[in-house]
Amino acid sequence: MPKDASVRNKVIIPLHKEGGTEATFITFSGLVDGKEHIAIGLGDFDSVEIPLVRIHSECLTGDVFASQRCDCGAQLEEAILKVKEEGGYILYLRQEGRGIGLYNKIDAYALQLEGYDTFEANEKLGFADDLRDFEVAAQMLHSLGTSKVRLLSNNPNKVDQLKQYQIEVPEMVTTGAYISAGNHSYLKAKVLKANHHITVPSKSK
Ligand SMILES: [Zn+2]
Repeated sequence: MPKDASVRNKVIIPLHKEGGTEATFITFSGLVDGKEHIAIGLGDFDSVEIPLVRIHSECLTGDVFASQRCDCGAQLEEAILKVKEEGGYILYLRQEGRGIGLYNKIDAYALQLEGYDTFEANEKLGFADDLRDFEVAAQMLHSLGTSKVRLLSNNPNKVDQLKQYQIEVPEMVTTGAYISAGNHSYLKAKVLKANHHITVPSKSK
């Protein structure tokens, strides 16, 4: 089991989505890395039998500015709609750039412009492939009283990590692929090097 955490507060915030979506923002005490991760309850999250959960890592450039270097913004949009429909949570983890931080991520983009893929660029900067740790995600779920989730993801690594922390994942719900000229090589690298279940055509449109 992950270390104990507890719900600190729950506040309903209306969002500008589909003419108004009620989202319950949930904060926590006792998360192992001390960061301000947040769970966002959508739809019938309180009463659904097995909540649909999306673990989303913060991406300032993608989530806020719709950067075309990655697919995070589109993924987050899709997650909000799907989770609202089926009831569940978005766990929004404050681990920018897969844990390397915003400035390092932007440095990695500079290397990608020189032809390195996303994983090679991180290696060149001295970072492991993926520094994200899903213990905090498991802590959040356990403190929400949830030990079984349907996971909205294309990344089998997330399922394995959650299982290590006693979260059952009876179903993985795949997400759409959002391919553009700007993120084609990024997505291709995710498929080839991180075993993501996405179909990426050999050439972008
Ligand atoms: Zn991103």
